[in-house]
Amino acid sequence: MAIPITLIPGDGIGPEITDATVRVLEHTGLDLAWERAAAGAAAAVEHGDPLPAATIESIERTRVALKGPLATPVGEGYRSVNVSLRVRFDLFANVRPAHTMRPGGRFERVDIILIRENTEGLYSGVEHYVKIGADDRAAAESVALVTRAGAERIIRFAFEHAVARGRRKLTLVHKANILKLSQGLFLDTGRRIAAEYVGKIQFEERIIDAMAMQLILTPETFDVVVTTNMFGDILSDEIAGLVGGLGLVPGANIGERAAIFEAVHGTAPDIAGQGIANPGAQILAACMMLEHIGQEGCARTIRAALDQVVREGWTLTRDLGGTATTREFADAIIARMT
Ligand code: NAD
Repeated sequence: MAIPITLIPGDGIGPEITDATVRVLEHTGLDLAWERAAAGAAAAVEHGDPLPAATIESIERTRVALKGPLATPVGEGYRSVNVSLRVRFDLFANVRPAHTMRPGGRFERVDIILIRENTEGLYSGVEHYVKIGADDRAAAESVALVTRAGAERIIRFAFEHAVARGRRKLTLVHKANILKLSQGLFLDTGRRIAAEYVGKIQFEERIIDAMAMQLILTPETFDVVVTTNMFGDILSDEIAGLVGGLGLVPGANIGERAAIFEAVHGTAPDIAGQGIANPGAQILAACMMLEHIGQEGCARTIRAALDQVVREGWTLTRDLGGTATTREFADAIIARMT
């Protein structure tokens, strides 16, 4: 039976890299029933809504979406559709795997899965100004909200993800030495859950500032990492930098009711429409999606072909130092899929 999947091509380079990704996926022979859906700036123009009801209904039905990047207006304008989707479907886990694909770089043997809590922490959106004397905005406070339930579900998710992916170690990153209550609750929850995984997954703790340094000094010693929202936001970009930037880094936003897979990069307006964007991150996002729906074999085939293309270095897009087009890069992957 065909597997239904919501496909949101998105803005900028989104449609180009999505087309390339769909071609690669179709080559696996899997029967995927794509439900094309609109979101982002193009949807705002065409449908008068950056997140049309039909798109939400499709994700509610399929529970799995592959999404291209969406343009978000800065300052003024509509709310980020990415944030709306995260809130709407309670996508509490942000998963970003990154591994060294190109030999000869500064950081070899990096292979880290960063798992970030996506709904609480300093990004929970609880903020207000404090009036002092006549000054309405004399101070501003942002609440770093950590709930026991929120900490439990992300840490448990991280342990389960580590087990499912055959990983050995989970590093919990925190700042409980200073933020004794909120970060302390996160750390205590981690320690408690870790006891259930003794013998299966090794558990260690790192303070965020030390972690930022150790990621540069000894990135190969980290395996799966779990942390709160803002630390995860920052560390995930640092880790992307270790493996050569955003061009080959995918991400997943996962909840109980739905999961949305995407490249980590944005719409790349400077090269949109030229057919030269690197579809690699979107293809890797599709691989995460295949693993999520139990099609690990197909994901392995695509990953191996993509790895080979990048390692050989003959058919690379411009961001990776080559001259290939999006289509040629995808064709090279297809040619190596056995
Ligand atoms: P960006 O990631 O779009 O671009 C940064 C640089 O990287 C550009 O020079 C671009 O050409 C290059 N680049 C990005 N992806 C590439 C690819 N696949 N192949 C080759 N080069 C690539 O970041 P930005 O310019 O800060 O953001 C542009 C827009 O994208 C903004 O509207 C932003 O809100 C949006 N955005 C969306 C998402 C998302 O939907 N998940 C994520 C990040 C940014």
